[in-house]
Amino acid sequence: WSHAPFANETESFVIKAFGQKFGYTKSSIDGTFCAGGAELNETALICCLNQFIPSYGESGIRGIERNPLIYASSESHHSIVKAAKRSGLGSQSVRVVSVNDNLQMDTEQLRGQIRKDRKDGFLPMMIIGTAGTTGAGAIDNLDALSRIASEENMWFHVDAAYGGAAILSKKISGSLVGIEKSDSITLDLHKWFSVPMGTSIFLTSHKKILHKSFGVKTRYMPKDGDPDKVTDPYLHSGQWSRRFIGLKIYLPLAIHGWQGYSEIIDKQISVGEGLKELLLENNWEIVNNTPLPIICFRKKEDRSGNEIVDLVQQVNDSGKAWLSVYPVKGKKTARICITNYDTGEKDIKDLIHLLNHYSQVSTI
Ligand SMILES: *Cc1c(COP(=O)(O)O)cnc(C)c1O
Repeated sequence: WSHAPFANETESFVIKAFGQKFGYTKSSIDGTFCAGGAELNETALICCLNQFIPSYGESGIRGIERNPLIYASSESHHSIVKAAKRSGLGSQSVRVVSVNDNLQMDTEQLRGQIRKDRKDGFLPMMIIGTAGTTGAGAIDNLDALSRIASEENMWFHVDAAYGGAAILSKKISGSLVGIEKSDSITLDLHKWFSVPMGTSIFLTSHKKILHKSFGVKTRYMPKDGDPDKVTDPYLHSGQWSRRFIGLKIYLPLAIHGWQGYSEIIDKQISVGEGLKELLLENNWEIVNNTPLPIICFRKKEDRSGNEIVDLVQQVNDSGKAWLSVYPVKGKKTARICITNYDTGEKDIKDLIHLLNHYSQVSTI
């Protein structure tokens, strides 16, 4: 803080503003800027361990009596497994919960698994809901998950790396209901906020937990700021020396405002809806169901799924659009994700032409 008070105060200000957007109580908001979603999910796990296992900071996992468990859906991001490996818990501490037809975590299975694990002597500790899965954009039932976490006395983390931006949407922010009851949130700004890579915010509704998890005592670090009033980031996150990451969102927000972001996000949602309609009109089958502008689609008669792989390759080689291949319920699909503020009606019409041209199922 003493080296860069402006940078630190700016970051604190932005973190509080984002916390409020997600519905956290102002006085309880804390957080830190990180380089990416993977680092944020790990930060969440470290905070959770420090919250539930008071001796974790001193004796680490050696002091643990019952093995802690983390629950996430089969569609969740694999950085959760990585975080489990790095924390010392190991990948076996992640319980993979299956998903329903809409690719959301099956809450009944979750409840059953938690009950069984408790009986078997484990410590069910953390539920991770995903708001916008990386593949098909599914949003878990965050409200239901928050209720289960509170009944079971567990930490509720929401991995909203991509989909968290929907909180600013006038159309679909309701699909994130429940996120305000979370203990922590992962939000990547380098995804749907259109800022350069390496800009992410970890948010928590536990004012003291970052300090408890990452604080150390030194005699040589300058202490110019009043510790009751200012946050020294090196005591507050995994990093020590750090960049002024927050500037990359502070400036665009200062220029465009929350309103500007709302409009851009809602525009992309509308463009996505238009594209869904066009795909259906042109006889493509859409296999995912999400309010986010992520569309996984296939040809009805493509049994092997190989045709879709060739098609994606041809579209990408054209240099006019970029799609990926994602398997949904065991079948390969082409995946479109609209995240560019400049994508508009003309782009999606051009894309439909490309798709119809390369697949020769053209009906337009
Ligand atoms: C992208 C993504 C991550 C990882 O974020 P990075 O910024 O690449 O580290 C984690 N979770 C979800 C849901 C993601 O979509």
